[in-house]
Amino acid sequence: MSLTDAFHAIEAHIPALRELMRRFASPPIRNAGTLVGNIANGSPIGDSMPALIALGATVMLTSSPIGRAKAGNGTLRRRELALEDFYLAYQQTALRPREFVERVRIPIPPAKQLFAAYKISKRFDQDISTVCAAFALNVAGGAIRTARVAMGGHGGNL
Ligand SMILES: Cc1cc2nc3c(=O)[nH]c(=O)nc-3n(C[C@H](O)[C@H](O)[C@H](O)COP(=O)(O)OP(=O)(O)OC[C@H]3O[C@@H](n4cnc5c(N)ncnc54)[C@H](O)[C@@H]3O)c2cc1C
Repeated sequence: MSLTDAFHAIEAHIPALRELMRRFASPPIRNAGTLVGNIANGSPIGDSMPALIALGATVMLTSSPIGRAKAGNGTLRRRELALEDFYLAYQQTALRPREFVERVRIPIPPAKQLFAAYKISKRFDQDISTVCAAFALNVAGGAIRTARVAMGGHGGNL
């Protein structure tokens, strides 16, 4: 699924992501690139990860049977990881040999949850993020009860 199609599907449920998605690269890149490519790439300046981690997204990792079929072990194996557990270190992911990202599961935020995502860059359009940040807060009785905060970037000079 292209980034364009994925973003349309996400935006329908999470309008707070509209601006971040519009500022992700440009239409030709969004039409050619995929959301799972952005995730699997593991770039620390990728724009989809902070929002997806704050939202509590998970990735379904599927093990291709190719190469195992001869051993009589040709069935697909699947495991689901929290997206934050998918990243082990700089551009290192938890993907094992023959595994690929089959799908991303993004929980729809509860109506009362406060969610916001920000992309800070030198240019407003078509620039890499200096910082990309996302916040998912559950507030009750005037206090923050739970918070999921994720950030990417940090490396540039504003
Ligand atoms: C001009 C330009 C502007 C850009 N601007 C932005 C931007 O503003 N924000 C941003 O975040 N990114 C940006 N990018 C990066 C790019 O758009 C994304 O990383 C894109 O989503 C990659 O998707 P892809 O399908 O082309 O992945 P690929 O380049 O094909 O793959 C990336 C990596 O992921 C692996 N991979 C791909 N799919 C899977 C899978 N299903 N399972 C396991 N591994 C997989 C590949 O083997 C490869 O190692 C930009 C790129 C360009 C060229």
